[in-house]
Amino acid sequence: MTFLAGEPGAWRLDGDGFTVEQLRIPAPQLHIRETSVYLFSAGRERLMVDCAPADDPSWPALEAELDARGLAPADIGTIVVTHAHPDHYGNAHRFQAAGARVVLHRRDLDFHRVRNGDRAGYRERTFAWLGSQGVPQDEGHAWLAARMEKMSSRPLNPDVLLDGGEIIPVGPLRLRVEWTPGHTPGHVIIHEDAHRLLLLGDHILPTASPNIGIDQDNPGNPLPNYLASLRGFVERADLVALPGHGHVFDLVARSRQILEHQEERGRRVLRAVEAGARTAYEVRPFAWDDATWEGLSRGLRVNAIRTLAAHLGRLAELGLVVREERAGLEAWRAADGGTGDELVEPGEVDAAEHD
Ligand SMILES: [Zn+2]
Repeated sequence: MTFLAGEPGAWRLDGDGFTVEQLRIPAPQLHIRETSVYLFSAGRERLMVDCAPADDPSWPALEAELDARGLAPADIGTIVVTHAHPDHYGNAHRFQAAGARVVLHRRDLDFHRVRNGDRAGYRERTFAWLGSQGVPQDEGHAWLAARMEKMSSRPLNPDVLLDGGEIIPVGPLRLRVEWTPGHTPGHVIIHEDAHRLLLLGDHILPTASPNIGIDQDNPGNPLPNYLASLRGFVERADLVALPGHGHVFDLVARSRQILEHQEERGRRVLRAVEAGARTAYEVRPFAWDDATWEGLSRGLRVNAIRTLAAHLGRLAELGLVVREERAGLEAWRAADGGTGDELVEPGEVDAAEHD
């Protein structure tokens, strides 16, 4: 049985010698309210993709879902973690202690260690980076204090590191790992080609737009490749889209919608620079009005500036803005003769963002 977009309940596939089940786990502590774990069973073999936040009520809910199937943590052989955010790996250590092996992309282990190994250093680098984007010091301090408070220090010590392209067998199924940097540097999605299943983590979500932005600890701009990945999915009406949060959804329509959302944001950023905004911080009022901005938590404002920096970088790649380094400030000006025609027409815009 497959649930269509918007339908309540959890998706499930009963195949020949295997089952795949979506376990929808409540997570009221998250902005997005719930998270999904995918349980693959074949004979005595069991593999999970993601494992829910460690805090209440998510962990007891996951335990209850397993218990309802006659399972305990010790019955899970493998946990594949789509990315190193605590709403996806939170309980990895619990399953590991019961004997599971934990699988993660190597870039997300680095990402995790850089943030959690030396939190004071991470805070300092992020504060300096926010300054380079024009964020005033008092605001930068307040945002970071909120951000660091929310940042988890849950343990994450994977047993197997991925590069992308691996095949992970479970019973008769073959899970193919695709590296999709963007939401995090080592984010992966999982394909099961025989049944056209696609486990998306936070790469594409049905009800929120995943945060894609510049990270001072990771070189490069993930936005162009992320948009290219979405364009690839606009052609894939055949795939069953299984998100890290929420219901099964229409991959084609949703990919198109997020593309339009991002293109509209790019257009606003370009208009801002043309109107004289010089830094990501100065671009902000053109991307989010004051009421929306005031409603955004302080911690999420760090992500918002990361997103704007990614858009500015992309506009520079398209030749529409020019970067100017000015005394530690990353500043921008409009390029001569740009029209913005490279950016498609705006569509529906999401209110919700997910970090
Ligand atoms: Zn998530």
